[in-house]
Amino acid sequence: MKVLVINCGSSSLKYQLFNMKNKSVMAKGLVERIGLEVGMLKHQPADKDKVEISENIPNHRVAVKMMLDALLDKDHGVIKDVSEIGAVGHRVVHGAEKFSGSVKITDEVMDVLKECVEIAPLHNPPNIIGIEAAKELMPDVPMVGVFDTAFHQTMPEYAYMYGLPYELYEKYSIRRYGFHGTSHRFVSIEAAKFVNKPIEQLNMLTLHLGNGSSISAVKNGKSIENSMGFTPLEGIVMGTRCGNIDPTIVAYIMQKENIPVDKINDYLNKKCGVLGISGVSSDFRDIEEAANKGNKRAKLALDVFAYQAKKIMGSYVAAMNGLDVVVFTGGIGENSITMRQSICGNMDYFGIEIDDEKNNVRGKQAEISPDNAKTKVLVIPTNEELMIALDTVSLV
Ligand code: ADP
Repeated sequence: MKVLVINCGSSSLKYQLFNMKNKSVMAKGLVERIGLEVGMLKHQPADKDKVEISENIPNHRVAVKMMLDALLDKDHGVIKDVSEIGAVGHRVVHGAEKFSGSVKITDEVMDVLKECVEIAPLHNPPNIIGIEAAKELMPDVPMVGVFDTAFHQTMPEYAYMYGLPYELYEKYSIRRYGFHGTSHRFVSIEAAKFVNKPIEQLNMLTLHLGNGSSISAVKNGKSIENSMGFTPLEGIVMGTRCGNIDPTIVAYIMQKENIPVDKINDYLNKKCGVLGISGVSSDFRDIEEAANKGNKRAKLALDVFAYQAKKIMGSYVAAMNGLDVVVFTGGIGENSITMRQSICGNMDYFGIEIDDEKNNVRGKQAEISPDNAKTKVLVIPTNEELMIALDTVSLV
C-alpha cells in the first residue's frame, strides 16, 4: 500500500509518500508561503532530481492540488493515478482528551476536531483545513488523524492537573496534555528494539530537542509525563519559547512593556527562549558558534537549556522510580554532540555517562554510553512521518 502523510501548518504543507511494502519514501516535499504573495513548492522524488515551483498559492486547497500534481507529474512524479494512494495520514496537533490514539477520519471525528480548536487555536485550524482540502481532492481515499497529544493520554490525573480551581478543568479543559507524542512513541519503540528488551520492562527518558523541545518519561512503554503542558509553551526553555516561568511574570511584563492580551502569547512563543537569552539566534548551530567565539550570553543560553533539561530528567527519574534508557532525538538531540555532553555531564548518580568517542555521531541510531553502562544513552533519529504512515495502515 502507498500512504501519503500530510503535515499542514498555518502557511506550509509538508508531505511524504511511503511505499509501505518496504517502508521506503517514494517522494517528499514542502509547500510553503501559502497565502503570501509568492509561494513555493519543493518536491523531491526518491530517484529523480528535485523540483522547485514558485507561484502564488492562495490557500491550502491549492497547496494540496500542487502536491498531487507534483506526485502525478510525468517527469518528476512517482505515481500515475491518485487511486494508487491507498490512504492518507494527517498529523493533528491537539486531540485534547477526545483522542487517546489515532483514528479514521469520519464526519463525527471532524466535528470533534473542530471542538478541539477552542483549546488549540494556533495549531488545529491549519490541520483541519489540510484534511478538508485533501478530502475534497481525494474523496475516495480513506484518511487517518494522528495526534501529538494522544501518546500522553496515559499520564496519571495527578500529573496532568494544575493547581487551579477544578472547575476550570471541567469548564475549559485546562490541564496538561503533552506534545510531540508521535515522536516520543516512535523513538521509545525503536530504543526498546535497539537495547533488545521488551518495552514493558523499561524506564525511559525520551528527549525530543528541536526548535520546540519536550522531555517524556516513558514507563513500561506508556507516557507518564511530558514537559509540555496545556500548550507546547510549557516545559524546557526552547528556541523562541520561554518554557516554565513564574506565571506572575506574564501580567508584569504586559504592564511594563505595554503588551496587549492578544499579543502576549506571540511574545512568549516567538521572542523568548534561547533567542531571547542569547540575543543571537534561535538556531543552536548559531548559538554554539557564537559561544565558541566567546559570546557570554550565547554560552549562558546553552547552559540554561542543558540545566533545565537535567532538572526535568531528574524529576522524571523520581516519577518513574528508575531509569534504564535515555534517548536523544530531534534536530539538537540527533546532531549536537556538545549539547548531549552538557546534558549528560555530572549525571553519574543516575548511571548516566557518555563515551566521548561513541558520542561523536550525528543523525543515526547509536549507543553513546560506555559499554556496560548502568543506563543506556542512545541517539535515535525520530521519524514522525513513518509513525503516522504505520498508524494509517493499521487503521485502514
Ligand atoms: P523542529 O522542532 O522545527 O522540527 P528540528 O528538530 O529540525 O526542529 O531541530 C532544529 C534545531 O536543531 C535547530 O535549533 C538547529 O540548530 C538544531 N541542529 C540541527 N543540526 C545541528 C547541529 N549539527 N548542531 C547543533 N544543532 C543542530
